[in-house]
Amino acid sequence: MVDRGTPLICDIKQNSLDDGPGIRTVIFFKGCPLSCSWCQNPEAKEMADQLVVQASKCIECKDCIDCPPEAILKGPPVQVDRARCDLCFRCIDACPAGVFKHAGTPADIEAIVKLARENAVFYRTSGGGITLSGGEPLLFPRFVLALVRRLRAEGISVVMETCGAVRLSPDVLAILPHLALIYYDVKLADPAAHQQHCGAGNALVLENLKVLVEGGTVLLPDSKDALDFKKHAYDKPLLVPRIPLVPGITDVPENLSGIASALKGLGVKLIDVLPYNPLWVDKAMALGSPAHDAVRGWMSADQLARAREALAGFRFERFK
Ligand code: SF4
Ligand code: SF4
Repeated sequence: MVDRGTPLICDIKQNSLDDGPGIRTVIFFKGCPLSCSWCQNPEAKEMADQLVVQASKCIECKDCIDCPPEAILKGPPVQVDRARCDLCFRCIDACPAGVFKHAGTPADIEAIVKLARENAVFYRTSGGGITLSGGEPLLFPRFVLALVRRLRAEGISVVMETCGAVRLSPDVLAILPHLALIYYDVKLADPAAHQQHCGAGNALVLENLKVLVEGGTVLLPDSKDALDFKKHAYDKPLLVPRIPLVPGITDVPENLSGIASALKGLGVKLIDVLPYNPLWVDKAMALGSPAHDAVRGWMSADQLARAREALAGFRFERFK
């Protein structure tokens, strides 16, 4: 696997109760091999830095107008012509109102460990810890391995949220024993629908899931050598497949039963669902992606109940 060195982090969320057991600090890595149309963290899709423009903060002082390629358009509201912007980021310092910001900052292992130490008492009393999310943390396996080793040496529990669309490799495998839990997203059962909505087919996601559930053999992408997971004894983290519920796309009964059948076939017992969150739309707009077709409301209780009903017959245990 290609390791991309030091990743960018697009956010650190403190005191989360939604990203694993207990109180957790969530680290969002920037960069993802998929590009889901409903991505809750659109700033985490691209690996490279981007300019975030929060136009509603603009106080119309015009201090930013001195933009070398004249990409900043007079408001109100202030706008950026993304085709002209060369990402010099000078507007960040020029604006007194904080309208502009970087979408990511370089990850720093020591800074994350320091934060974890400061929160250790909350983790201990709640059964929480650090959750690695994104984007896709496994795009940076060497960095993540170094990070999880440091966190485990501090006695911190580590959870990972993954889209599963990453080639398994010895570097990725080395991370697994350090994880308490993996949330493994399974979004669409139909390969063509997965291609349409996520930018790639689902074969790698399902193949990796099978290997992680059953143990087995994968062919490394850059060599003819097979990697036998059964020979690499490791403490398996708890693996919880998770279905993001997106109205009209992933929450339709045919998709839910297709995913549930595949998971049952693998012997999966525990699953989780992730109800749709529309707050990503404003974040996408701040990156210059208007998200015209987005579902803008929260899921209703009825929609959620229908999705749960479609899964109920498969008799999974729900992971809490
Ligand atoms: S990043 Fe540079 S080019 Fe882009 S809008 Fe800001 S000042 Fe202009
Ligand atoms: S410097 Fe900031 S607050 Fe002033 S006009 Fe530009 S975007 Fe608006």
